[in-house]
Amino acid sequence: MSSQAHPDIPAPLANLKIQHTKIFINNEWHNSVSGKKFPVLNPATEEVICHVEEGDKADVDKAVKAARQAFQIGSPWRTMDASERGRLLNKLADLIERDRLLLATMESCNAGKLFSHAYLMDLGGCIKGLKYCAGWADKIHGQTIPSDGDLFTFTRREPIGVCGQIIPWNFPLVMLIWKLGPALSCGNTVIIKPAEQTPLTALHVASLVVEAGFPPGVVNIIPGYGPTAGAAISSHMDIDKVAFTGSTQVGKLIKEAAGKSNLKRVTLELGGKSPCIVFADADLDSAIEFAHQGLFYHQGQCCVAASRLFVEESIYDEFVRRSVERAKKYVLGNPLNSGITQGPQIDKEQHDKILDLIESGKKEGAKLECGGGRWGNKGYFVQPTVFSNVTDEMRIAKEEIFGPVQQIMKFKSLDDVIKRANNTTYGLAAGVFTKDLDKAITISSALQAGVVWVNCYMVLSAQCPFGGFKMSGNGREMGEHGIYEYTELKTVAMKISQKNS
Ligand code: ADP
Repeated sequence: MSSQAHPDIPAPLANLKIQHTKIFINNEWHNSVSGKKFPVLNPATEEVICHVEEGDKADVDKAVKAARQAFQIGSPWRTMDASERGRLLNKLADLIERDRLLLATMESCNAGKLFSHAYLMDLGGCIKGLKYCAGWADKIHGQTIPSDGDLFTFTRREPIGVCGQIIPWNFPLVMLIWKLGPALSCGNTVIIKPAEQTPLTALHVASLVVEAGFPPGVVNIIPGYGPTAGAAISSHMDIDKVAFTGSTQVGKLIKEAAGKSNLKRVTLELGGKSPCIVFADADLDSAIEFAHQGLFYHQGQCCVAASRLFVEESIYDEFVRRSVERAKKYVLGNPLNSGITQGPQIDKEQHDKILDLIESGKKEGAKLECGGGRWGNKGYFVQPTVFSNVTDEMRIAKEEIFGPVQQIMKFKSLDDVIKRANNTTYGLAAGVFTKDLDKAITISSALQAGVVWVNCYMVLSAQCPFGGFKMSGNGREMGEHGIYEYTELKTVAMKISQKNS
């Protein structure tokens, strides 16, 4: 989709000025305690956009003090009406909507996102997501319980406390909102570490937090690196919960740090190697397009990417041919420019990792149908790549690639494909394409995945719980269950003189 293709999308902001590059604590801007800064790049040009203050343990300690203070009993935040918390979240959503063009331009420059996607999908998702969470603020109920004895017993869903939130670079703003929204809706205070590659939109949202009227210390944002600022959050003795989205490898470190420190609550949304299964009876046009978008959307940098595509034997050749035709249609270039349909990967490390996996596919005997290398000589671009004749033991069929590389495998029977689809340590998402209801229900029950899409793919919305089975994570984000992940459940049993039914 180019920005010209959609009548509602304006042109990107011509002269983007970065106003906020400091650490945000207690509704104020701070320099880093160490005095260090780090460069933030545009992945399409490899140019430095600006330098940002580099947070580390000492800065996290300052933020924890502010967040703890804001969470004290009797504080403005703790005594605020729940409906007022909802109003503040709605206000923040309105301010994000006001600054939509600026934020979409910034996200496109810093995260390599097609401007049209940033404007429509990312900003649209943020605004809706935040409003969804705002609506929950005064609807988080406990229960009364008919316990044995002369007692009046009830439960309260209380905020957990100070929440550390560590987010990735692929959807910087959406991930920010998926963390911020539920946590604040329930009345927690937060310390957020954006990914080191993409801190800019989070810092702009920090300025909107002040404008919306949140009390100081409720939201704190510490840009910085994972092993330093991130690790300081996950191992902190005075942080009550850590929520993380990123790689499975780092997810394990986060859980370990939580276990070795204060057993803080942990929710994790990690990697995937999601199966997408296409039966011969499916609507082929639709299946090809969904499977294609399910992999190539945002240059393949989605945790739910349909990166193991299983196609039934009788339609395999046609499916491969048409998928290759589709993949060859991309126009690569600066994602801010109209007419461009594929932007860069986020950084050199990811770019080189993708090229290494492509080489492994060639060596291990998969058939390279198109692409297969880098594109251009500036920016971290990878040619849209399709492999056919992929078998389950190849690295490209097992490892998360996080790039525009499609693997197409062949299957013969329902039982066989269920076993193969589940034969992975991951369990984030899955898709199935068929017109046969019986097959759709059998498969959607049998697949080990947090979400199964039937005759569609990558359909996410704020109302639905999202998260993984197995090594794709712990807990759920968004939806009712995602809200409850930010609460502690307390039972209060009160002695009374006599109860009556
Ligand atoms: P990716 O491989 O996709 O970059 P990561 O899991 O490395 O994903 O990063 C996701 C987030 O986790 C980023 O904000 C990053 O800074 C942070 N991170 C990386 N390493 C650690 C760590 N050891 N402890 C805490 N956070 C980390």
